Amino acid sequence: MEKTCKEIEELLVDYADGQLSSDNSERVAEHLAQCENCRKVLNALQRSLELSGIIWTDGFTETENIHIPIQRKIRKLSWRHYAAIAASILLAVTTSIVWRALVKPAEKAPSLIEIERSIIEEGTAAKLLTATDLLASKPHTEALIKSQYEYIVTHYPNTKAAATAKMRIP
Ligand SMILES: [Zn+2]
Repeated sequence: MEKTCKEIEELLVDYADGQLSSDNSERVAEHLAQCENCRKVLNALQRSLELSGIIWTDGFTETENIHIPIQRKIRKLSWRHYAAIAASILLAVTTSIVWRALVKPAEKAPSLIEIERSIIEEGTAAKLLTATDLLASKPHTEALIKSQYEYIVTHYPNTKAAATAKMRIP
């Protein structure tokens, strides 16, 4: 069961992007019909893809000629894939920042929730850093990379990932 969900998740980026063969697409659709969890993942991915579309538009089209391998049948981890991962993490980060701003109580001793939150922040910042490092291995990403490292430093100043990101900003 779990393996199936994992297999499906690997196909979801391409599914959301309309890139799957009809066989695979059917398989994913069948699974989605009966698996709420994968539907949620798909939802998040669709939002991420929209967001990564914004990143493309804002970050690159003016100056860079990016080749997005849209029509290739077999793609391991494409450019869009990396962007989707990075964007989905950004999305999670943004959501948590909004949430924190809404619920943050006045100054007092750290509660369990706050401790848990700092652990989550540490983890989120680390994931964001990993995604950014992955992006950094691709060509023409300098501007995006720099802004993502800066983002980590700004929004997660007290994490290890922020310290690492700081060193990587050119
Ligand atoms: Zn599933």
